[in-house]
Amino acid sequence: MYNQPHPLEVKVLTRRFGLPNSRSIDTYMANDGYTGLKKALEMTPEQIVDYVKLSGLRGRGGAGFPTGLKWSFVPRTSPKPKYIMVNADESEPGTCKDRLLIENDPHQVIEGAMIAGLAINAEQGYIYIRGEYRYLIELMDKAIEEAYAKGVLGENVMGTGKRFHFATHSGAGAYECGEESALLESFEGKRGNPRIRPPFPAVAGVYQSPTILNNVETYSAVAPIFQQGAEYFCGLGSPKNGGTRLFCVSGHVERPGVYELPMGTNLLKIIHEVAGGVRGGKKLKAVIPGGSSCPVLKADECDINMDFDSLAAAKSMLGSGGIVVMDEDTCIVKAALRIMRFYAHESCGWCIPCREGTTWLRKLLQRFHDGMGTRSDIVLIGDLSKNMLGRTFCPLGDAAAMPTIAFVEKFRDEFEAHLDGKPCPKENISRLVAA
Ligand code: SF4
Repeated sequence: MYNQPHPLEVKVLTRRFGLPNSRSIDTYMANDGYTGLKKALEMTPEQIVDYVKLSGLRGRGGAGFPTGLKWSFVPRTSPKPKYIMVNADESEPGTCKDRLLIENDPHQVIEGAMIAGLAINAEQGYIYIRGEYRYLIELMDKAIEEAYAKGVLGENVMGTGKRFHFATHSGAGAYECGEESALLESFEGKRGNPRIRPPFPAVAGVYQSPTILNNVETYSAVAPIFQQGAEYFCGLGSPKNGGTRLFCVSGHVERPGVYELPMGTNLLKIIHEVAGGVRGGKKLKAVIPGGSSCPVLKADECDINMDFDSLAAAKSMLGSGGIVVMDEDTCIVKAALRIMRFYAHESCGWCIPCREGTTWLRKLLQRFHDGMGTRSDIVLIGDLSKNMLGRTFCPLGDAAAMPTIAFVEKFRDEFEAHLDGKPCPKENISRLVAA
């Protein structure tokens, strides 16, 4: 993605990627860096929030909530200190773009977080980085050190007399801690279970104080919005879906990778033009459009614009932008099993429908894939999943249930093809059939 961008790519968040020494503050400042912060320093908090609203930016963590609106929920008159939290606990299978944003342009993340800080009069920000990204913590610490040395961070931000401090915090490798309230618990040194909401983090976040909590890609987008203009950013996307998106294309394509494209780019264009088409000239079978928690699309549903609203209308989600492409040789039962293994492993065990549901679904899907499923199991998989929906503390329960429901409903024939000890039609292996 660095050297030969595809003609459809529009480099906004990634425009400094590939520059020599791209992560240093000198390179950053020589290429527009911290000019957005300078602009925001001359604005009132209300003007900053309105400017973000004008950009059409929606949260890149998965839910797609309008960012400016989210910031406006912070009670600025609260006497409590305000905080900025950057969620860098990127763990959704199929997603690997926050890693690149920190690795190649850490100052862009810091600048976005500082602008958010100005919007709510926060003087302290944190970035919660997943434990497996250990090397990124070191890179970010170095960038923070540089920003302090240049007078960007500290007691006198760019000579304005304003104060802003920023620090890293390491997660310990739990997917659940990417959920905002569990992240806050973990950050405070407690077990990473979610909090009951309301109140939401805007009112009671870090240390029960008002907090803006967004994902790395969201903050990374804030910096160019102020550097290049909210109207420019908004105009890149589709209606109500401003800007660009980093799409992580993986699976059975010729050129897997992370591509920055306008919001609303057609999914088939991404697969066939940007990512080089289905590997080996095979037929497209299915696509998970936004990370493992998003309901699968069949090949004939893939002529769709990749934005929040188009995917929602198709009963799926844009999620975290992880596009997983499956060719005609893919066993859908196995794909469902792989995903459920992940969720059963990552369930924090706090609520029964998720803790028990994911474990039972994993066992059922395993049994199916081993050729020992029964027709009633197909119904049971669907029923179990539906019983998890909306009955859990955090979205992980839904994240496990929704793709499973879609797999069963859209590919029932594949589940039936595994019945009664029949070998997996997609795999040349002998089944583990009970004698
Ligand atoms: Fe934990 Fe799952 Fe309940 Fe979320 S839904 S709180 S991960 S048990």
